Amino acid sequence: MRFLAGLLADIGRLAMLKTIAKQYLPVLEAAEDGLRELHELEQEILGFDHIEVGLELMRSWELPEPLVLSAALHHADLEQLQAKADDSYASLLQAVATSAAIGEYFCGYGKGQALQRAKRFTQEFYGFSEEDLNEFIEQTSARIEEAGQLFSMNTSSIPDPSELLARANEQLAQLAMRAHVESQQAKARERSIEEEKKRLESENRELQQQAVHDPLTEVYNRRFFDETLSREIARARREATPVALLFIDIDHFKQINDTYGHHCGDLVLQRVAKLIDGILRSSDVLARYGGEEFTILINQPTEKGIGKLAERIRQRVEQEEIIVEGQRIPVTVSIGAAIALPQRHETDLASRLVAAADEAMYDSKRGGRNQVHVRSLIQEPERRLMQRVTQHRFSRWLVDRGLFDIPTVSKALAYCRPEPVRIGQLAQQHGYLTDAEVEQILQTQESTGERFGAAAVRLGLLREDELVHLLAQQREDAAKLARTLVQMGLLDQRRAEALLREYITERSPRRVAGPIATPAQAR
Ligand code: GH3
Ligand code: MG
Ligand code: MG
Repeated sequence: MRFLAGLLADIGRLAMLKTIAKQYLPVLEAAEDGLRELHELEQEILGFDHIEVGLELMRSWELPEPLVLSAALHHADLEQLQAKADDSYASLLQAVATSAAIGEYFCGYGKGQALQRAKRFTQEFYGFSEEDLNEFIEQTSARIEEAGQLFSMNTSSIPDPSELLARANEQLAQLAMRAHVESQQAKARERSIEEEKKRLESENRELQQQAVHDPLTEVYNRRFFDETLSREIARARREATPVALLFIDIDHFKQINDTYGHHCGDLVLQRVAKLIDGILRSSDVLARYGGEEFTILINQPTEKGIGKLAERIRQRVEQEEIIVEGQRIPVTVSIGAAIALPQRHETDLASRLVAAADEAMYDSKRGGRNQVHVRSLIQEPERRLMQRVTQHRFSRWLVDRGLFDIPTVSKALAYCRPEPVRIGQLAQQHGYLTDAEVEQILQTQESTGERFGAAAVRLGLLREDELVHLLAQQREDAAKLARTLVQMGLLDQRRAEALLREYITERSPRRVAGPIATPAQAR
């Protein structure tokens, strides 16, 4: 069976030589240097190989499966054969693949690779050492002549063992050299791709930098500011949070130019920009709005907070010793601040806010310069609601109890922005509203354009203290804040849990059974 399987393994080659000799010849020529496997070249040049041809023939002759399988795997590698190790014909498959390698070594072109395969297979399947293999090759060489006589074949063209080994080694050296050259080329290609990528990235960064920054002061430019403002307003509308702007204009700047020269004016602009930038949080956006005018988009603003920040900037600029070319140049700024809460259907908030900040800035100019004015576009009921929400937050509760100071809590809060969640959804989670009630509120909103919470309270479906509780939750995830404080090493786990429970018990509004009295009914 093994002998037959060995004879049949390469039947496909014989068939191709007999039927398509003309097409097959170029393949054999290409294989002559022995550096590529024959079946690979067949696939490349003809689109099929002798293994497939052999299989088709053997199947059409309905030969037994072990024979077909051994022919299919006669060029298999060690891993493929090992994968078949539990097969009932495993030893047949191994013998055919090993003998194919030995046969290739004696008669084929790819002597180097054949020798390596033979070494691997004989070692793995028959426990051969290298010496055992050499001895086996010697014996085989002697027996080839006997076999040649048996089959009346001329075997004189088969080299003797030492010549075989020399050729095999030469091929292996060539293969190693080729692999080395290819890997060097691949490395060089990789390097140049990497360099090109880096160059493009840095060019990209450069362009981006130029596109959004003011070249003189290196703060953001007007275009970037306008875009960021619309984005921030859209976000604030979704999250029902306020947006605020500061307008900062250098006082009598024309006079600075006239007295010290335009170049000194430029240096003053750079110094002032740098000074303001140093005061801000990284989440605030400072931009040069025009000639000697700057603007700041404030992150998470409050009415009180923006006034304080503006005043701090005013004082710092006034106190700064700006010395250019040996002369101290006195510089002051006039500041206007504006804050608003975006309404649901409002489309022109950006321009209203800019106008309000600009007007507030002119109030400062009119008042004698080097001043701060704040304008709030927030309506009274909303302001009251926002204040209540701020009071209700877990962070405020912690500060009120003297457990933390405001800077510490603010730092923790910066790490725990809550997941965006809708008030309706929160209300359902708390059992404050049913599906039908949420639906009713959404429909009312469609026609009135009110906020969800305002509509819910007006319809008598939510109490104001419940709304405050939900809004506080929406702004600040109390559990997340507690976890963050633990992670920062400022609270231990148990204490954090106890505080959270206490806060919830103390601050959660109780739901009273029965319908809520609407303000109208209550009156
Ligand atoms: P006010 O206190 O009312 O703001 O007076 P002002 O002189 O600061 O205001 P005005 O708008 O009259 O003048 C602004 C000056 O700023 C005029 C302009 O030449 C100068 N300017 C604008 N851009 C630059 C610049 O990039 N570099 C320099 N050096 N000067 C600039
Ligand atoms: Mg000015
Ligand atoms: Mg001006």
